[in-house]
Amino acid sequence: MISFKPEMSTAKKDAIESTTFHPGFKVAMKFSEKFYPDAITCKVETGEKGFYDMAFKKSTKDNVLGFLCTGGETQKYYALKSEQEIISNLLQELDEMFDGKASASYSGNYILENWGQHEFTKGTWTQAIQEKKSQLKIFNLPLDNKVYFAGEIHDTYQQMGVPGAIPSGYYAADKILSDE
Ligand SMILES: Cc1cc2nc3c(=O)[nH]c(=O)nc-3n(C[C@H](O)[C@H](O)[C@H](O)COP(=O)(O)OP(=O)(O)OC[C@H]3O[C@@H](n4cnc5c(N)ncnc54)[C@H](O)[C@@H]3O)c2cc1C
Repeated sequence: MISFKPEMSTAKKDAIESTTFHPGFKVAMKFSEKFYPDAITCKVETGEKGFYDMAFKKSTKDNVLGFLCTGGETQKYYALKSEQEIISNLLQELDEMFDGKASASYSGNYILENWGQHEFTKGTWTQAIQEKKSQLKIFNLPLDNKVYFAGEIHDTYQQMGVPGAIPSGYYAADKILSDE
């Protein structure tokens, strides 16, 4: 989404486009009763969908149920008009599983974090380990030895997530200092 002058090579753009980067969001909802098990995994075609007890083994009496959705299934929720509609939809899904207990014990408090539609993230996470090495090599090349890249997809040590993103920064800094 960022314009480069001069433009990036087609090979570099293709490497970026070919990377799997699912949209997704997380919700935390508070209930007066813990009517749910520790985790519920739902079957989806791409990405992940599941509910989980966010207060699991935490020193709190609050009942907070988390919901994570990534990949194709997010479109169903993104098609809804507001956060409130997403919450209503989730309560309905839970009511079907737990005989109306979700609506009956919902406190009205929730937090929704939508990485898939946030302008500076546009998605959840990448996994360099799943991508073709040849594409990653192009992805990691600096532009004219002036612009260097770091972040989870530039994880040459294949650590994934934060443990991968951090050393990629050191790696890029080292390249900046050693490239002529
Ligand atoms: C729901 C969820 C759960 C996760 N769980 C884990 C986990 O348990 N363990 C784990 O290791 N990893 C986890 N991850 C992945 C982890 O968050 C990422 O691997 C890590 O944040 C990637 O770091 P990064 O520096 O590459 O990118 P980011 O952390 O995304 O940093 C990029 C930064 O650039 C900023 N930015 C973007 N565009 C612009 C712009 N044009 N101008 C200015 N600033 C800009 C963004 O605001 C952001 O702050 C999870 C991710 C999600 C979404």
